[in-house]
Amino acid sequence: MNRVMARVVFVLSVVLGLPALAQSAPCMVVTLTGTQGGPSSFQGLAGSGTLVRYGDDSNDCRGVFLQFDAGRGTSMRLSQVGITPGEVAAVFITHVHSDHVDGLADLLQLRWMQEFKRPKIDVVCSGDTAAAGHVMSCAKLVAHTADAYIQSGEIAQRRAEDKARPAGGPADLVNVRTFASSDEPQVVWSSGDVRVMAVRSAHVAGHASYRVDTPAGSVVIGGDAGNDTPAPPRASSTSAQVEALAKGAQVIVHSVIHPVMGPDGGTGFPAPIYHRQSTATDLGAMAQRAGAQHLMLTHLIPPLGADRQGPYRLPKGAITQGDYEAAVRASGFAGGLTVGGDLSNVRLPARR
Ligand SMILES: [Zn+2]
Repeated sequence: MNRVMARVVFVLSVVLGLPALAQSAPCMVVTLTGTQGGPSSFQGLAGSGTLVRYGDDSNDCRGVFLQFDAGRGTSMRLSQVGITPGEVAAVFITHVHSDHVDGLADLLQLRWMQEFKRPKIDVVCSGDTAAAGHVMSCAKLVAHTADAYIQSGEIAQRRAEDKARPAGGPADLVNVRTFASSDEPQVVWSSGDVRVMAVRSAHVAGHASYRVDTPAGSVVIGGDAGNDTPAPPRASSTSAQVEALAKGAQVIVHSVIHPVMGPDGGTGFPAPIYHRQSTATDLGAMAQRAGAQHLMLTHLIPPLGADRQGPYRLPKGAITQGDYEAAVRASGFAGGLTVGGDLSNVRLPARR
């Protein structure tokens, strides 16, 4: 319903004594809370993260707040859309690389200091996953998230100011909800009308991708997913599991790497790291096959305007939004496209 119609229905419903009629249309807003690609920092971009808020027209889609990854600066970006750490119902982690979790300690510490009386926050992620010589453990990440603040004495000092703060520090406020990674989508969280599913996807051990289903629509958050075949030859750099998860979803949010970082680009960027990300063109093709209405690119490697990705210099200089758009459109994808900056957002249903 467009705004004029909504107004007419609102006035009629007030006159007729049916206020719920005017206010019940469900809606969802997907906001990129950080779009920096990888652990480098560039011009103040926040680390990787996506906020999904769901509600209805009466509360401006602010019924429930779900955060997917929490990179550097997440609480700063949430503050810019009027959300405090305590208001987030759940944080979903795609993988435990620092660029996706740097902001978690900050978010949980703030919650522990200022909003500890709220219900516990869910942190949802894959269970411990072993690879050659190492184990990726989201559960340990959470359990030890405030160790530095405990060791420094801060937790004890702040408890001396307010004994009601939980003794164990921020980790005491968390329900860690791990799941066994699976190629088949599984429901890993739900509340009311909102359901979140997860699949295993390749990048590093324990990487997961998520889908949020609501009456207003569905969004898939791919994270840094790549193809299970770690290098060419292969049909695509994208994940078959993410593509299957995205069938019927309106919006896909996905990390992207521009082909300029590839082995032929002269940057010296390590080929295995290039190959474990999804390229802009392959993401366009995946969005097309999945039938998505909108593709949101995030975690841009390289960032717009950067003449280097960390230590790797781009011999032909920085690339532009147009370069990313051209790479996506080369796939034939004609749907909506966001080359993400911090706080880029998409609303479902779209306002007319
Ligand atoms: Zn990353």
